[in-house]
Amino acid sequence: MTETTCIVWLRHDLRLADHGALAAVVTAGARMIPVFVLDEAADGAWPPGGASRWWLHHSLAALGKALADRGSRLVLRRGATTEVLAALAEETGAAAITCTRCYEPAAVALEKALKARLDDLGVDLKRYGGGLLAEPDAVRTKTGEPYRVYTPFWRAVSERLVVPRAWTPPERFAAPAKWPKSERLADWRLLPSKPDWAAGLREAWTPGEAGAAERLAAFLDDGLDGYAETRNRPDIVGTSRLSPHLHFGEISPAACWRAAVRARETGEARDSHVETFLKELVWREFAHHLLFNWPTLPEAPFRPEFARFPWSPDEAQTEAWRRGRTGYPIVDAGMRELWATGWMHNRVRMIVASFLIKDLGVPWQTGEAWFWDTLVDADLANNAAGWQWVAGSGADAAPYFRIFNPVSQGTKFDPDGDYVRRWVPELAKLPASAIHAPWTADAATLKAAGVVLGRSYPLPIVDHARARAAALEAFASLKS
Ligand code: FAD
Repeated sequence: MTETTCIVWLRHDLRLADHGALAAVVTAGARMIPVFVLDEAADGAWPPGGASRWWLHHSLAALGKALADRGSRLVLRRGATTEVLAALAEETGAAAITCTRCYEPAAVALEKALKARLDDLGVDLKRYGGGLLAEPDAVRTKTGEPYRVYTPFWRAVSERLVVPRAWTPPERFAAPAKWPKSERLADWRLLPSKPDWAAGLREAWTPGEAGAAERLAAFLDDGLDGYAETRNRPDIVGTSRLSPHLHFGEISPAACWRAAVRARETGEARDSHVETFLKELVWREFAHHLLFNWPTLPEAPFRPEFARFPWSPDEAQTEAWRRGRTGYPIVDAGMRELWATGWMHNRVRMIVASFLIKDLGVPWQTGEAWFWDTLVDADLANNAAGWQWVAGSGADAAPYFRIFNPVSQGTKFDPDGDYVRRWVPELAKLPASAIHAPWTADAATLKAAGVVLGRSYPLPIVDHARARAAALEAFASLKS
């Protein structure tokens, strides 16, 4: 059987463990050629943003090294995927190509086109799950419809879930008699040249499977047991920060699920915390389920009446939001954390999204696009579902009229102001009582903290109470 050669086409599954498409080749005893194709046109309207490209570079480097340690290689090719893979199959005499399924509309179309192309050549395309816990086309309501509401979706997924057992890669992979040529990763220019904005990303993250495993271990040691209480606190590390690793498939959701359940069984984490974490993993499933079944989710409101929403964007205000200069400290802290590290805490994502959409009257798609470019975990399904959730236009979304007050949200979830102090250092010396609303502080307090409003830190670019009233009026117009 070792005479058979198989190509493993890698995409958002940049790991070796728990990898169905790799395991199938190993189990068949075939010679394996792992390939990554950089196909800049394949993602349609959503080519990877700057932060994703940075992550991809490092993740591919890590995967290449892990494969080399096992006597294998990562072959890098650039071009139209169907043509590149068809040519590679012919060149290497591969009998089959295996891959992990992806669920973005462009990825689904690509798998279909590739299958047709390979059928002509008599080469098999074998697709495996593993990117999600449950295939999004397999979860259906009693009437056979896709779910639109999270809680019954959670029940349907969690009650029927069969989590596959862990698969560990062998010490060595069988190599082909002759390796096809590979391009050089550095030539792909995925990293920023000048200016080099990635210093904060390098400090915050270790892309790759080993980095993902370390994150999970750290979370299990010091995060999971307490998660239900601390997950809303941006001032402490209360969440797993696994999102970019999950997005790039450096860890499987099954591995996260198994680890959390094991911690419950061994008594290392209490049930309420474990269940809350599992529910978040299933929010990820739900977002992918929505995107798979409603492929226009990233562009169009799920609830069609929102297409008529009377937005009133102002470019200067939008730019102030992007740069973290709105005059609302919790919003600015979040936007600066995003710029510096490529990540933002979930609670703060909700606050900044609500501010953009409802206080500034900017269409949610504008914020979605900024997140797409700047997040290391930018994920078409999670990002679109997140923005539509806040906008009130999504499936099972927060009602539009629930408008976050950036001051009370800050006071509640960053009670001592430490999160703001970290990301908005010009306010660091303000007392907690003033840090979320510096314009309410008296002159002596501002002076003692070295804050000159309008100079060292902006005055609020909108008045929240007035902006809120205008947002509600705009919303009411949808009903008339
Ligand atoms: P944890 O709390 O440790 O959760 C574990 C995992 O569960 C996460 O890594 C993630 O994969 C999943 N998860 C958690 N919350 C959600 C959620 N609300 N929706 C879907 N999956 C979830 N998440 C992304 O991965 N990519 C995005 O592009 C993205 N954009 C968002 C945009 C907006 C406006 C909002 C409100 C949320 C967005 N999210 C996105 C969801 C969420 O904010 C992040 O997944 C979470 O902050 C990641 O941090 P963590 O890994 O520490 O999460």
